[in-house]
Amino acid sequence: MNRNVAILGATGSIGTATIDVLGQLADEGWRAWGVSGHANLDALATACEKMSLPPEWIVGSDPGLAAQFDSRRWPSSSRFESGAERLVALASADEVGVVVAAIVGRAGLESTLAAVEAGKRVALANKETLVVAGTLVCQAQQVSGAEILPVDSEHSAIFQCLQASQTPAERIILTASGGPFRDWTREQMEEASVAAALNHPTWKMGPKISVDSATMMNKALEIIEARWLFDIPAESIEVMIHPQSVIHSMVEFVDGSVVAQLSPPDMRLPIQYALTYPDRVACSAPRFDVTQRWDLSLEPADRDRFPALELGFEVAAVGGTAGAVVNAANEAAVALFLDQKIRFTEIVPACRKALENHSYERHPTLQRLIELDEWARAEVQRWHCGANF
Ligand code: NDP
Ligand code: MG
Repeated sequence: MNRNVAILGATGSIGTATIDVLGQLADEGWRAWGVSGHANLDALATACEKMSLPPEWIVGSDPGLAAQFDSRRWPSSSRFESGAERLVALASADEVGVVVAAIVGRAGLESTLAAVEAGKRVALANKETLVVAGTLVCQAQQVSGAEILPVDSEHSAIFQCLQASQTPAERIILTASGGPFRDWTREQMEEASVAAALNHPTWKMGPKISVDSATMMNKALEIIEARWLFDIPAESIEVMIHPQSVIHSMVEFVDGSVVAQLSPPDMRLPIQYALTYPDRVACSAPRFDVTQRWDLSLEPADRDRFPALELGFEVAAVGGTAGAVVNAANEAAVALFLDQKIRFTEIVPACRKALENHSYERHPTLQRLIELDEWARAEVQRWHCGANF
């Protein structure tokens, strides 16, 4: 297997963890062959300097920022290019065997799709690509024969649990930590600060997914992601609150047997498994000590306090243009919340309103999905300016 890896979004939380994993696997021939960064090119240059074998190809996806950067900081042997379209070139380069799709949000769509079209093994963290364009990604996968392996810890767990049987699962149970506001009342959430929303109890992640975890929009996106990854209908997906983040998800078979995957909350294990599958190799992430006393709890999710969940189930059921619209509204609303322009509790209603105001299509083209993405972002801005959420 070709062990040259392209990390799209190498400067982020998943990207940095991937560089760490590849460092551990270097003796087995794994390397970061190509990397991309967007705003944090300084951090990218530092990460490249530390690699035993510098990347062959570096992409700065924002051409404006790349032009301002001192190019002498790149390793002399690396080729550097800037521009979002270079992400597509890197994702489909012949030399690359595995693409780690770790860009946040819809910005990862074209490059992730390009990796699938090019028949790469795609280690998928960028769940928003499946939310926006699940049908098109699955169609491209069927044509190219690409392998899409989940990096998201819940989906990695489900993927691992499914290997327990040849018989398809009857139900999959996504676990959710509940985020920082698991026990907060609706009134408390009205006043939630940005710092409180970013303070995730069990995971250290980028700001967008941290806010998504607080609204539970992350779980909504994961319901949709699971629908596409495992070709399972929305009604066969369940969500359970599991604050300890040790049981990463479960699968229930027709005979009533439930299979779960357990490990401490650390992304290095699911990232590594997406690279080395079907093999398992030693991992630098902490291990789950099964000989300790553990109090692991499961409880149903509260869909009244977290209305994002209902939205996730609805979008997973109807598909079409719904995912692109909800995802774009969410990205726009999360950005406004992070800028302290709207309240925390306005994020999910903005997504609901965008979904209901758009004219739904069952079989959209990629172009139509991109147009609707732009439309939904503009609508959220417009509602915000009119104080009309
Ligand atoms: P981060 O915010 O930490 O990193 C995002 C990455 O995307 C950075 O490399 C960033 O570059 C790059 N980026 C940002 N905007 C653009 C753009 N417009 N064009 C190209 N690249 C861009 O996010 P995370 O690592 O937390 O998340 C990445 C993805 O993985 C998300 O889809 C998330 O849902 C998913 N995921 C993350 C988990 C986690 O534990 N963090 C767990 C499961 C899934 P730069 O920093 O240089 O600006
Ligand atoms: Mg997850």
